[in-house]
Amino acid sequence: MPKAKESLRGLGQKYGGTLRKRYARVFRTLKQARECPACSSMKLSRTASGIWSCKSCGYTVAGGAYDLAQAKAR
Ligand SMILES: [Zn+2]
Repeated sequence: MPKAKESLRGLGQKYGGTLRKRYARVFRTLKQARECPACSSMKLSRTASGIWSCKSCGYTVAGGAYDLAQAKAR
């Protein structure tokens, strides 16, 4: 398990536990390595909200804001 401090980066003591946990989950999802659908490298990352692009081949694809797959309404 990662250190709490690392997974809750940027929030410190603020905003309360529930929100920080939610933020940590989104942050982990956002930063995890993803496979590029075009060249199969693990360089796919988010350029802007909903826009994902590959640093290796330049492939760009639309997706969800925090994950390549669009999240269902929570
Ligand atoms: Zn690629």
